[in-house]
Parts: sequence; structure tokens; C-alpha cells
Amino acid sequence: MGEEPLSASNSKPVPKLTFINSTDWDLLEDLPVAVYTCDKEGYITSFNKAAVTLWGKTPHINKDKWYVNWEIFTSDGILLTPDETPTGKVLKYGKPVKQQEMLIKRPNGSVSYILSNPKPRFNENGELAGAANTLIDITEQKNTESKQWMLASIIESSEDAIVSKNLDGVITSWNGAAQRLFGYTEDEIIGKHITVLIPEDRYNEEEMIINKIRANERIEHFETIRKTKSGEEIQISLTISPIRNNSNKVIGASKIIRDIGRQKKSEERLQQYAERLEILNSIGQVISAELDIQNILQKVTDATTQLCGAQFGAFFHNQVNEQGESYMLFTLSGAPREAFEKFGMPRNTAVFHPTFSGEGTVRVDDITKDPRYGKNAPHFGQPKGHLPVVSYLAVPVRGKSGEVIGGLFFGHEQRARFTREHEQLVLAVAAQAAVALDNAKLYENIKELNEKKDEFIGLASHELKTPVTSLKGYLQIIARNLPPDDKSKVLANRALEQVGKLTILISDLLDVTKIQTGKLPFTYTDFDVIKLLTELREILQQTGPSHQLLLNLPAGELIIHADSQRIEQVVINLVTNAVKYSPKADKVIIEALVINNKFRVSVQDFGIGIQPDQLDRVFSRFYRVENLASHMSGLGIGLYICQEIVNRHQGRLWVESTYGEGSTFHFEIPINTN
Ligand code: ADP
Repeated sequence: MGEEPLSASNSKPVPKLTFINSTDWDLLEDLPVAVYTCDKEGYITSFNKAAVTLWGKTPHINKDKWYVNWEIFTSDGILLTPDETPTGKVLKYGKPVKQQEMLIKRPNGSVSYILSNPKPRFNENGELAGAANTLIDITEQKNTESKQWMLASIIESSEDAIVSKNLDGVITSWNGAAQRLFGYTEDEIIGKHITVLIPEDRYNEEEMIINKIRANERIEHFETIRKTKSGEEIQISLTISPIRNNSNKVIGASKIIRDIGRQKKSEERLQQYAERLEILNSIGQVISAELDIQNILQKVTDATTQLCGAQFGAFFHNQVNEQGESYMLFTLSGAPREAFEKFGMPRNTAVFHPTFSGEGTVRVDDITKDPRYGKNAPHFGQPKGHLPVVSYLAVPVRGKSGEVIGGLFFGHEQRARFTREHEQLVLAVAAQAAVALDNAKLYENIKELNEKKDEFIGLASHELKTPVTSLKGYLQIIARNLPPDDKSKVLANRALEQVGKLTILISDLLDVTKIQTGKLPFTYTDFDVIKLLTELREILQQTGPSHQLLLNLPAGELIIHADSQRIEQVVINLVTNAVKYSPKADKVIIEALVINNKFRVSVQDFGIGIQPDQLDRVFSRFYRVENLASHMSGLGIGLYICQEIVNRHQGRLWVESTYGEGSTFHFEIPINTN
């Protein structure tokens, strides 16, 4: 090289390369490697085709410097001045430099990785005459390398275990997640057979997998069990794909292995939470609506036994009877009553004491090993035949004011069955139970008082009836025997009127008692209700002359099958109320009509009316609306009796009212004639 320098020229095709033997020219021209020469100033003196491609432009001989229009960087991306580039150094120092990797950037932004290998060239006097350089474009190789590097780092950083194996089942690659999941390091496992990860009873799965892979099939999300280095079996999900070589032949398989044990566990936990919440919710609803103590105890025992997974549970509830003696109610779940009954109630032993004294919850994995256990005669532990208790949980149940009202006890024959979570669930239910039990107790007290009150009203009205009847009799005799002009006769008649009111009152009270006991008597006959209403109006008009009683009736007669006295009682009640509660009005309208084979009576007044929220309540026993009319006498039982009478006739009684304007009470009964 270089004895006979080639002259630089601008002629096409490219000029012959200086410093290069003319005999080598053809060879260099078509070489895929870029070659150029430059003089000692760096001006290009010759180049080949590949160099033009690399520059992206044909340079001007002796005008363009060897870097033409590139920016040149180190492979780490540091921008170099022309002097700092390998060719620049060769020209500066006249010494060859080591082959170097560089990055070049063209004006259009395109970049290439190149290997630069410049050499100095000297003239016949041994003086530096320039440089010759070969440049190899390694961009593609670099890209492939970086792709591979990226892929490898993705695999390595994956959360999922990624493993590959050949068709013989031998492991060929193993990432960090695989190591974390299975416990084997890469060194330990590569070259081993995949069956080291498979439990023996699942070896046949491997055959199935390999067969599918050979058939070029993919396996997705196959859920199975695998074995770790420590022998632990784990739940995993496998996705397996065939690996093909350049000629598309299957040579192995890659597996992505996901640990689904944790996921499964959290799914189960979630499910469990949802179930428990549902039980808690429903128990809350059920017991708050329940007013029977025994039922509450049973429901709470069943629910808590289920919630804490006990084999059996019991609720012991302290009660005090009317004599002030304490006793215990108890309910069981998961065990027959006899299983407990023969052993009597829990006594104040070291084990039970903390619960009944309210010291706190007792939760023990194995009660038989507890120091408090087995200290009491005669059994010194669980009596023979007792349900076997190993796991033990006992929670005190406290009332509103903090006093212990009982205890919930749970047992299981296996050890360590009850967790802190169980304990808390039971405590939550116990708190709800305490409120429900308090309510039930209150309700029972009220019920008892109510019963006593009913009993008293029944007795009192019964006791009043006899003297009032005699009183009425004597007054009638006195009034009859007095001469018509005697002033005392007026007084005697007034007294009789008052006694009449008293009789109605007592008879109403007796009716209430009879309704309560289901003994209100009825006598059904066929009678003309039009006639009854006409006569009734006459009588009522005489007793209440303050209001005009207007009667609108269908013409003719209307026979119905009913208890005429009771129907009369209803009408009298409604008309009396209409007059009583419309003190400023002067009329009451009584209307009767037949609708759909039913007989309807409406009593309309123009009085004080009833507020909408009171409309339903006026039919309740002893209920009186608190309003301007509260001072008016009455017991609040008239409408209650009316409703019972109408109901017993399979009819209905209702009211429409505008507060301050008046009310209309309607009742309707089937005509029912044979
Ligand atoms: P009372 O003996 O109090 O009249 P009732 O059972 O007949 O008992 O009526 C219950 C309550 O309904 C009354 O206290 C009154 O407040 C209300 N009431 C009944 N009838 C009327 C009416 N016509 N107008 C307004 N309020 C009425």
C-alpha cells in the first residue's frame, strides 16, 4: 500500500483511493465496508461506494473533510470535536489508534453505530501524508443486541416467574422471580429436569404439556400445583408457549408462572368477609325486630356459632324472676340440649369466672392445658360424656349500663380454632344482642303492665256495673213515685240521665275487656237498617238538640244481616263524636247508601277535624288526640269498639278529615242477606 499514491480527482465514478494499490481498487470499490483516504489536513482524497452510503452524501474531493457533515459521538453519547475523533487523533499524532466504536449523526437526524479503524499514511520521505480509514456500520448488530438486552432485563425484572425448557424437559433459563417463587438459584436449576418442580401425582401433566408444545400449541392460564425447593406445594397459573428456532421448528417451551396462592387466599378472604357481613347484617335486623327473649338468645347463639366456626355454642343469660331470685336461661347451637343439661349450669369456676364477672373475653387454643382448667371437684375438668372442648372462646355480654347480663361460650374439639377476628365478630354480635335483650325486657315489662291494666279495667267495670244498675233501678222508682209537679222529679230525672251516661261508659269498658279476651258477643238477625237509622236519628236528635241531624237515606226498606244493636252502637258513637267535636257547628249529616252490595253509612261534621298524622291512631285503644278538644270528656275507646264491631261484620271503618274544617267517618258492611 501507498508506494504509488493515487491522484485525487473529482471525476465519476469515485476517484481512485490514494495510498491504495491500484490493483486493489476494484476490490475496495464494492466492499460493504466504507473506506476513505484524506490528506494530512483531513481533506478527503478518495472514498468508495459504501462510504458514500454511510455519509449519506457524495463528498467533494479536497474540499470536504473526512467527517463531511457528521456530528460524531462516543458510543456513550459524548459529542466529540473533529480533533478528538479517531481520524483526528491519527492526523494529529501520526500514530495508528485502536479500533473504536462511535455514533454518527447526519444532518437529517439519522444515526448509525460505526467501528472506525483509521491508520496514518506517510510519503516516501516518511512524513505524515494523511490517513486511510475503514468504517464498519454496526447499527443493526447494536439494535439486535439492545433488543436482546432489553428482553433479558424485562424477563429478569418480571414479577412472574419465567422459565424455559427444551423438548426433553430440561430447564434452560430461569429468572429472578422463578428463584423467588421456587427457591432454586439459576445455577442450581439450569440443566435440571422440570419434574423437580412438579409434585409426583402430577407428572402426567408434564406429558400433556410437552405433547401440546410439540404440536405447536399454546397453553393459557393452566391452574395447578407445583413444588418449591423446600417441598412446599404452591398454587400457580401456567401459560406455556412453544419456542421455535430460525427455521420455525419447535425446540422448547417458555413458561410464565404466576403464584395465585395469595390471590386465591385474598379471594377467599373477601368472600368470607362478604358472608360474615351478611350474617352480621341479618342478625342485626332479625334480633332488633325480635321481642321474645328466648328467640333472641337462640338467634344470637346460632349466628355466633356459625360466625366463629365453632362446633357448638351456648348463650347463658342471667335473669331475675318476680321474687328477685336469679336464674339462667340458656340456648344452644350445634349440640342437643341433653348434652349440657345433665351437667347443670356453669358454675363460678376459674374458667367461667372471667366471663360472668365481666373481666373480659377468654380465648384459649387448648383449654385443657390452661392453668385455670381442671381445678374444681367433682370432675376436675370436663365431666365424662361432656362434649369435648379443646378450643375455647367465651365472651361476656353486657347490658346498657355495663352490667354483665350473660355470656356466650364456644367450643371445638380441635385446638386453635378461634382467632382474634372470631372474638371480635362475637363481641360485635354480643353488643347488638345486649341492646335487643334490653328492648325485649322493656317490652316484657310493658306487656306485663298492660295486662295488669286490662285486668284492672275488666275488674273495675265489672264491680261498677252492679251498684250502678241498682242505682238506676232506685232512681227510676223514685222518679216514678214522685208527683209530676214535684220539683224533685226534675232532679231525679237528671240523676237518671247521668246514671245512663255512666251505664254506657261502664258497658263500653266491659266491651273493651271482652274484645281483649275475644269474648265480645254478637247476635246476627235480618232487619231493616233504613228503619233503624230513622228511629235512631229521632232519639239522638232529642238527646243532642244543639245540632241538627240531617239524614239522607235511600228510599224504601233495606234488609241486612247483622247485629242491629252493635250497628246502632257504632252509629250512636259516630254521631255523638260528630256533635262533641264540632262545638261551633250546628249540623251533622248522616248519609246511607248501597255500593257494590255493601251498605255504607257516612257521618259528616263541620268541627275541629283531625290532623293527617292522627287519622289512623284515633282507632287505637285509649287513644285521644291532643288538641283543643282534649278537655272534652272521653276515654278514647269509642272508635276502638266501633272498629272491632265493623271488622267482625267483615266490613271497614275509616275517616276522612280536613283539620279545622271537619271530619267524615264512614263504615261499610256487606249486606249479607240469605
Ligand atoms: P273519645 O271518648 O275520646 O271520644 P273515641 O275513641 O270515640 O274516644 O275517639 C278517639 C279520639 O278521636 C277522640 O279523643 C278525638 O280526639 C278523636 N275524634 C273522634 N271523632 C272525632 C271527630 N268527629 N272530629 C274530631 N276528632 C274526633
